[in-house]
Amino acid sequence: MAKFGKDVEWAASLLRSGKLVGIPTETVYGLAAHGLDEAAVAAIFEAKQRPHFDPLILHVPSASHAQHYVATWPKTAQTLADAFWPGPLTLVLPKKNTVPDLVTSAQPTVAIRVPNHPLTLQLLNLLDFPLAAPSANPFGYVSPTSAQHVLNQLENKIDYVLDGGPCEKGLESTIIDLSTPIPTLLRLGSIPINEIEKVIGPIQIKVNQNSNPSAPGMLDQHYSPYCKLIPFQPLNSLNAEQPTQQSDQYTPVLSDILQQFPAESIALLSYSSQDFQQFPLQWQSAIPHHFVLTNSHPDFAHAASNLFKTLRNFDEQQLKCVIFTWAPKENLGLAINDRLQRAAAKR
Ligand code: AMP
Ligand code: MG
Repeated sequence: MAKFGKDVEWAASLLRSGKLVGIPTETVYGLAAHGLDEAAVAAIFEAKQRPHFDPLILHVPSASHAQHYVATWPKTAQTLADAFWPGPLTLVLPKKNTVPDLVTSAQPTVAIRVPNHPLTLQLLNLLDFPLAAPSANPFGYVSPTSAQHVLNQLENKIDYVLDGGPCEKGLESTIIDLSTPIPTLLRLGSIPINEIEKVIGPIQIKVNQNSNPSAPGMLDQHYSPYCKLIPFQPLNSLNAEQPTQQSDQYTPVLSDILQQFPAESIALLSYSSQDFQQFPLQWQSAIPHHFVLTNSHPDFAHAASNLFKTLRNFDEQQLKCVIFTWAPKENLGLAINDRLQRAAAKR
């Protein structure tokens, strides 16, 4: 049997027998397993080399299915589900006992969402259990936005990839914790904060909590290609509560970089072609490789869908060092900067 294709029935039969399947979503590709089967869930952690303290998201075909696995379903959950599901919003709610502790890293809450991809919705509708699915990449590396990305790194560890084409959004889901008195943003993602606040009013933001077990996946260093990423200017905090990262204070010096890396292994990445002019002419001529996330400023959606593909491209071209400019600090630019910041954080 081929390792990838569009055979939803085959994917369903593999998942029923506890196997691992790559699944397309509108955000990134997931590494899916039977979400109520401890051994299948354990295989996800093993394949990704993901630490057990980093919990998984359950994927279900509808909001009414989500209610089977949570102990409470507040009005805000229904309002958000009506507004954004199927779509890139993950809700964190108190869990029912049927959800294995392995899925939630022994936390009393579970993260759950309805993904918006026709093949995966078809698949979820064939199953009578939820799919646990983190992004289908080795832990800490850039998330995959195509079936080929999944196979490149996990081919020997999984049974099949359902090929749903390139991911439309290209950034992970936004995560909102509804188990707190005020809804709390735990991860910036494909739905910008302002769109969520339009629907449920002000939310609190708690995105950079490396040592906080309520969102252990949000590590300082994550989404990282092997090549070194260096911001061209400092990024002021994304929000007041967030401590400034070490990488924020780094201002690169061209001669230092050229001393450390051969010029042909260095690239410049700018948010847009317009932003490229932020690099001095001397940099533009000394550094041979130039990348942009989008040609039309600000076009957040286009830039977001290009981000992970571009980061992977750096490694595919064996670049050693990329100096980048930040996205505008609004809308999806906040999530793009969040990923760039973690990708650039020191290992
Ligand atoms: P990934 O699927 O690889 O994008 O990672 C899933 C993300 O969801 C991680 O950042 C987890 O920390 C987060 N997550 C999963 N379950 C919970 C939970 N119960 N509470 C808070 N965050 C969670
Ligand atoms: Mg991930």
